[in-house]
Amino acid sequence: MENETDAFYRELPKVELHAHLNGSVSFKTIEKLISRKPHLNIGHDMTAIGKGQRRTLDECFQVFKVIHQLVDTEEDILMVASDVIKEFAADGVKYLELRSTPREDKNTGLTKKKYVETVIKAIQQCKSEGVDIDVRFLVAIDRRNGTDVAMETVKLAEEFMLSSDGLVVGIDLSGDPTIGDGKDLLPALQRAKNCGLKLSLHLSEVPSQLEESDLLLNLPPDRIGHGTFLHPEVGGSQSLVDKVLKHNIPLELCLTSNVKGRTVPCYSKHHFKYWYELGHPIVICTDDKGVFSTDLSQEYQLAAFTFGLSREAVWQLSQRAIDCIFAPDTVKQQLRQKWIDTQPQGIK
Ligand code: 5GP
Repeated sequence: MENETDAFYRELPKVELHAHLNGSVSFKTIEKLISRKPHLNIGHDMTAIGKGQRRTLDECFQVFKVIHQLVDTEEDILMVASDVIKEFAADGVKYLELRSTPREDKNTGLTKKKYVETVIKAIQQCKSEGVDIDVRFLVAIDRRNGTDVAMETVKLAEEFMLSSDGLVVGIDLSGDPTIGDGKDLLPALQRAKNCGLKLSLHLSEVPSQLEESDLLLNLPPDRIGHGTFLHPEVGGSQSLVDKVLKHNIPLELCLTSNVKGRTVPCYSKHHFKYWYELGHPIVICTDDKGVFSTDLSQEYQLAAFTFGLSREAVWQLSQRAIDCIFAPDTVKQQLRQKWIDTQPQGIK
């Protein structure tokens, strides 16, 4: 049964800005997908990392490949996106930016364009059903796929930015950080920026990316995913930190993902502390709530417990995330009002 503390975090209105669609698929939805494709012989242990378990980053990326096998038709994408949106809403998320890498599949007739259209359809359907959440979409570039695919992805996102009634708001750069070079993706990212797409880039997820991070920070991106190894205490550099501070670029921080993926040794050593103490804008996110068996309420609770945050501090953290969203100012105003309307007594 939910206790009073759990209820506080569940009821806390929240903003989720770093959620990969196929990493966010819940146990329940995976079950439905498995029953649609029993011949694949996929078990739950292959699609999620349970409590207390940890994997290497490489093993985490293997998990996404398994989930991709289960999600390879328009019908699957529609169900997955719609379930994920409703689950975030049930967890008290009022504004969600979902991100996903468009895929094509010759066997099922899936095209990248259909992929994006289907995610948009799920967002629109949830809206028309009255689900209490504002959802936007970031089209993701998988760094593994190189220059041409990155450019093709940006063009696709550009097309949908103009035709989706504000639902497609930006580009995500993700994928295995040990593969590919960010330098090759610069022309595509620059184009995205020039045409008005916002940029959220995974930066310094592993220690070997200092040069690349320096280069990508010159764009500059609008938000940073993880940024685990940017600061000097973990082998990053003050000049990288200075660039982040100069451009005031918010960081999307995903505690459980980083601990389970072993890029951070334990919760108390998470770089949340470094950036929080600087007073820099940070947003607590889930990354892959399905794969890492978590949700956003739990992530807030974990941060509060680990770093001794008061309820007031937690409330401020969730409220300040509104400043970092990619949707326009009118949406920010609406969200700010929502926070004011639901603020519990005793929290200033
Ligand atoms: P999808 O884009 O298929 O909806 O979500 C899964 C994909 O998101 C993965 O294949 C990977 O490219 C990306 N992804 C998910 N989690 C992470 C992460 O923690 N780090 C990085 N770099 N990429 C991730």
